[in-house]
Amino acid sequence: MTKLRLAIVGAGPAGIYAADILLKAERNFDVSIDLFDHLPAPYGLVRYGVAPDHPRIKGIITALRDVLDRGDIRLFGNVRYGTDITLDDLKKHYNAVIFATGAVHDADLAIPGIELEGSYGAARFVSWFDGHPDVPRTWPLEAKSVAVIGNGNVALDVSRILAKHADDLLPTEIPANVYEGLKASPVTDVHVFGRRGPTSVKFTPLELRELGELNDVDIIVHDEDFDYDDAARAAVASNKQVFVIDKVLNQWRKRETGNASRRLHLHFFARPVEVTDDGNGHVGGFKYERTAPDGQGGVVGTGEIREVPIQAIYRAVGYYGSSLPGIPFDKKRGVIPNREGQVLWKGEPGFESSTASQQMYGVYATGWIKRGPVGLIGHTKSDAMETVRHLINDVGNWWRPESPSEESILELLDERGVAYTDLDGWHRLDQHELALGAEQGRVRVKVVPRHEMVEISRAQVPAEL
Ligand SMILES: Cc1cc2nc3c(=O)[nH]c(=O)nc-3n(C[C@H](O)[C@H](O)[C@H](O)COP(=O)(O)OP(=O)(O)OC[C@H]3O[C@@H](n4cnc5c(N)ncnc54)[C@H](O)[C@@H]3O)c2cc1C
Repeated sequence: MTKLRLAIVGAGPAGIYAADILLKAERNFDVSIDLFDHLPAPYGLVRYGVAPDHPRIKGIITALRDVLDRGDIRLFGNVRYGTDITLDDLKKHYNAVIFATGAVHDADLAIPGIELEGSYGAARFVSWFDGHPDVPRTWPLEAKSVAVIGNGNVALDVSRILAKHADDLLPTEIPANVYEGLKASPVTDVHVFGRRGPTSVKFTPLELRELGELNDVDIIVHDEDFDYDDAARAAVASNKQVFVIDKVLNQWRKRETGNASRRLHLHFFARPVEVTDDGNGHVGGFKYERTAPDGQGGVVGTGEIREVPIQAIYRAVGYYGSSLPGIPFDKKRGVIPNREGQVLWKGEPGFESSTASQQMYGVYATGWIKRGPVGLIGHTKSDAMETVRHLINDVGNWWRPESPSEESILELLDERGVAYTDLDGWHRLDQHELALGAEQGRVRVKVVPRHEMVEISRAQVPAEL
């Protein structure tokens, strides 16, 4: 009987689902899986992307934890592919690898002034408020008036966290530094800008509706944005999601405003033109062109330029994947080129092309690094099914590793002095965070510094903790 020694790089939902699906799949060989992540804790963007005030979605962690706790997957945290382990190492110790490394960087927004001080990518801000160990502990929340560019759920998460009063976030798992930063924020106005009209947004109705429930925050919408054309009216009539979004926005048009201390303004038909300088190299304003419906569901520029004074701007225009050493990368889409999860190349690594057609044997991709940074956690499950199906069928093309024993990878990491964390270590850290939360009557308080996460996981914590 053949045995598949499989490495999965990335312990987010895509990597964990791939492991689970493979273990449960019908197959005529044994499987032994090692799951690597460069963070000391698993769950990827579910822990470090999903907003802290969305406990129901964060709850997906329970299902992911059940998979890990079954005991048939070894977890290696704090191990970065590309520095701690390489493709040659994987070939030496495994039959195949699945990359499930997701997408963590902000996509670019090419407008003048976007590089000014006070201009930020949403992804970094999300990492900050979700307690990611690799971003600074403090965030410059000094602006009274802020712009958020984008009409997707990440733009809503960012706007909501900026506008929400810090005390209303206290019951969540936000770390102390995040609470303190938000508590001191002088923000009064958050302006959200989208290029198209209200019937073309990418928000989900649930997330949008949530804005209207924020304590002491008025939602401001503008009548001029609701002069629908036939295409917009048809979208409302034919699409349930658009219907609900339109209904929610129209309810807000009728709401009384003026009593709240903070306002969240939704601006539609606004194409970003420029971030203007306040004279000191800092963001001072946001210029946009008013657009109009083109009759086919799109928009055209009207030539009318408007400007709002702001002191900070966040672009929430999408995420972008990172290239991995030795693995082909499609620079345009920010993904690993693949055919249904089988990684494709042109016979040599490191090229930047979307036209590769040869299968790179032994190498697979799943999740956001396979498909691009769109879609919900649930979508990574169907991704994983497709990738795993090919992995199973490709048995004849797997690598033939020199040292496939389970101990050999431990020896390699020890030899290199990699302070890896394991599943027991994650349990220790998890319990530690829950205990910190219990002391304060909260569900969890996240440990943020990487060295502390590693020390607690590796049981190198001082006794009083
Ligand atoms: C701000 C935000 C909010 C979201 N909110 C929701 C929501 O409310 N509901 C919902 O369903 N979906 C939500 N999503 C989408 C969801 O997070 C993604 O669909 C999902 O996380 C993608 O899974 P993944 O495993 O492909 O990537 P990720 O979750 O990013 O996991 C990738 C993992 O790979 C690891 N990794 C990366 N590079 C390396 C390397 N070189 N070596 C080792 N490990 C590496 C990372 O540390 C990470 O743990 C949200 C996304 C964002 C960005």
